[in-house]
Amino acid sequence: MRLSRREFSRLAALGVAAGMVPEGMARGLAQVAGSSQQPKVGYCVIGLGRIADHFMRGVKGSSTSTITGLVSGHREKAERIAAQYGVPKSSIYSYEEMDRMRENKAIDAVYVALPNSMHAEYTIRSAKAGKHVLCEKPMSTSVKDAKAMIAACDAAKVLLMIAYRLHYEPTTRRAIKLVQGGVVGQVQSIVSANGFNERAGEWRLDKKLAGGGPLMDVGIYCLNAMRYLTGEEPAKFTGYVSTIDKDGRFDSVEENTSWTMQFPSGIEATCTTTYGAQMPGVYKVFGSKGWLEVDNFGYDGLRLTAEYRGDAGPVKLDELNTEKDPEQFVRQVDHFSGCVRTGRTPDTAGEEGLRDMEYMQDIYRSAGVVALV
Ligand code: NAD
Repeated sequence: MRLSRREFSRLAALGVAAGMVPEGMARGLAQVAGSSQQPKVGYCVIGLGRIADHFMRGVKGSSTSTITGLVSGHREKAERIAAQYGVPKSSIYSYEEMDRMRENKAIDAVYVALPNSMHAEYTIRSAKAGKHVLCEKPMSTSVKDAKAMIAACDAAKVLLMIAYRLHYEPTTRRAIKLVQGGVVGQVQSIVSANGFNERAGEWRLDKKLAGGGPLMDVGIYCLNAMRYLTGEEPAKFTGYVSTIDKDGRFDSVEENTSWTMQFPSGIEATCTTTYGAQMPGVYKVFGSKGWLEVDNFGYDGLRLTAEYRGDAGPVKLDELNTEKDPEQFVRQVDHFSGCVRTGRTPDTAGEEGLRDMEYMQDIYRSAGVVALV
């Protein structure tokens, strides 16, 4: 059997994921599949909204990936974007007919960039069409859906990654390394905030599409950061929700959520999120030797500052990541394409998304809200 490079890497990825290829051979396959000669991994973008635009620009700047398909309810818009990215018109699908992408060999993976409650359906349908799935956060709007997504991808022997772009971002990685390397000493406490003033009419304010309020959308960055900074899983939660503005925007979801979490080591985290005020993303870690702060969970401009007692005296850090948007999306897609080529499990696999879903459920429960079931 003579295989094209694309078919070869696809078989390698599927074989490894399925446990059909022995580890040593998998490494060999990975080396070949990961070579620079390798054709790019082809992505079909499902949902052509705001984040999809960042993603597609990132893919354009990537040497590992390319856009090969689009799924949209707006044919005209899809054709315009297809022309921009060199996607043939025959690879544009409506939501209803997207299962036909099974036959499209140029599509290796999908990127699900739809409102939260649609992630599960489109992930599962894509897996059934034999495509690897990169799905936006939050993974779903229920713990049950998140588990079904993982099961569907496992059954189809395709990879599932949740698009936690900051895991691949240099300032975030440096913060994790510094904190876990002990520069601020024993971490005692972390505070974090992230929110914005949402305008009326957005799907984010509709519980059926969003699953919940700002916690699901932007508070999740604080939650996820507490986990990657400590390297621990939270064990205890207290949560509060409130709605102050009675202007009709918050008839369906809450306006504010604040919560605390305690980790097994005793580290305490205090977080807050809102749809009612501009609240620039931030976390600050307090330890026995000093503090470290990262400003911004955005697409660029992350800044790390710190002051701590070093071995040779006091240390002050002030480091700005000067990479510009869409560089984070290049890094993210390069990671997933590398996994698709080699069969490696992504750093932010479905299980990572599921944990956040379970913890958000714990936070809501503590606040007396039944959600994400
Ligand atoms: P958006 O509103 O800009 O885009 C949503 C897309 O889904 C649009 O193309 C819209 O046409 C389509 N769609 C299909 N059915 C729809 C329906 N019933 N209602 C509304 N839209 C429908 O949203 P967005 O900001 O791009 O967010 C999409 C997903 O990406 C969300 O899950 C969000 O949490 C996530 N997101 C992630 C990041 C990040 O940094 N990783 C940033 C923003 C959004």
